[in-house]
Amino acid sequence: MGERLKRYRLVIAIGIAFLIGLLVGYAFMVAVPEESARAEYIAWFKAIGDIFVRLVKVIIPVIIFFTISSAVASIKNAKTLGKILLWILIIYIITSIIGATWGLIGGTVFKPGAGVNLTPPSDYVAPTPMKGPEILLSFFKTDFSQLLTAKGAMTMIIFAILFGTAVTLLGDRGRKVADQLKLISDTLIKVVRIIMWYAPIAIFGYGVWLMATYGPKILGAYGKFLGVDYLMTFIHFFLVYSIVVMLGGLSPLKFFKEQSEPFVIAYSTRSSAVNLPFNMAAAKRMGVPDEVFGITVPIGATVNMDGTALYQVLSALFIAQLFGIHLGPGAFGLIVFSALVGSVATAAIPSGGTIMLAFVLSVVGLPLEGIAIMMAVDPIADALRTAVNASGDNACSVLITRLIGMKLRKGPTTESEL
Ligand code: ASP
Repeated sequence: MGERLKRYRLVIAIGIAFLIGLLVGYAFMVAVPEESARAEYIAWFKAIGDIFVRLVKVIIPVIIFFTISSAVASIKNAKTLGKILLWILIIYIITSIIGATWGLIGGTVFKPGAGVNLTPPSDYVAPTPMKGPEILLSFFKTDFSQLLTAKGAMTMIIFAILFGTAVTLLGDRGRKVADQLKLISDTLIKVVRIIMWYAPIAIFGYGVWLMATYGPKILGAYGKFLGVDYLMTFIHFFLVYSIVVMLGGLSPLKFFKEQSEPFVIAYSTRSSAVNLPFNMAAAKRMGVPDEVFGITVPIGATVNMDGTALYQVLSALFIAQLFGIHLGPGAFGLIVFSALVGSVATAAIPSGGTIMLAFVLSVVGLPLEGIAIMMAVDPIADALRTAVNASGDNACSVLITRLIGMKLRKGPTTESEL
């Protein structure tokens, strides 16, 4: 087998497995048209995928801690760290606002909710959206055990940055700790690479489940919303990230090639947190230095969600159109701003963005019943926005590398290094 083929054999296997899964799911849909009759069998296929997600998920908080703290500890110059964090803030905000704007354009040009007949299910209870201060405080958990959950990722990041900084401040004595942090973080990535061999089977299971459960809805009343959502999200993915990586000095072709593996994994697992180790491996293959992606990618997985910002804006417009609510130009600005905050606060878990949609809808004064309507088809929209959320982190990491005056590493990375 050629060296190149060898490097991509897993991603090819995953892609093929996913497609076969979708086909099998479609066959299921045709063979057993009754949804309730299908559900019992389909649950098994979902379980096959869930095993993979759970295996990765349990080590995510530990990975976040070790990669960030070891990256911070390896940066001896406080100014460099400050520069990375500042550029993270600027670039992540700009790209998310661009994402949200695509949602605005899609919603106003195509009006996916106009003339569509959808009503929320009768047993629906409207959620209580978070308020501004609650969102801010949700980044600061109250005890350590909460740091070990997906929702505690932000506090874990803050703790890891403090820890890494403290190691640096220890001077010579801290070097030993820094070496160990790096060693453990490399080991954890290896653990994920082992689990990865199970991925094609898991992703096949998810493919069957996704198609057999949501297939009919893609063809129904949700078709127009999903069509616009996918169109705008793909435009953001191909156009904006090509420009971002070119500004960073990387060829878009190389970017999309290396990003293909985390793209499929994020697409089928619908969690930026689960995808984190795969995204970091891809950033490394793109040549982003360890001390940069060790900080930018885990932070990005938690706060930088362009696909989610786009989706939240588009959903808000969709819901307004469904209920026949007219929005003035002032409301558009508010929707974009609240989606920016909402996407930052969204947990990197399946459907996290739809849960936070409650915040966006309440800021703009739109009916919260809209959440129930979106939930009915969320996994399909979630899949692509998660893949794009993750891709945005890596595109921005390439650019940040250049902005802080560092260079992308050249030359091939061997399989064993990843
Ligand atoms: N599932 C998305 C992610 O993990 C979040 C969302 O639902 O928007 O990136």
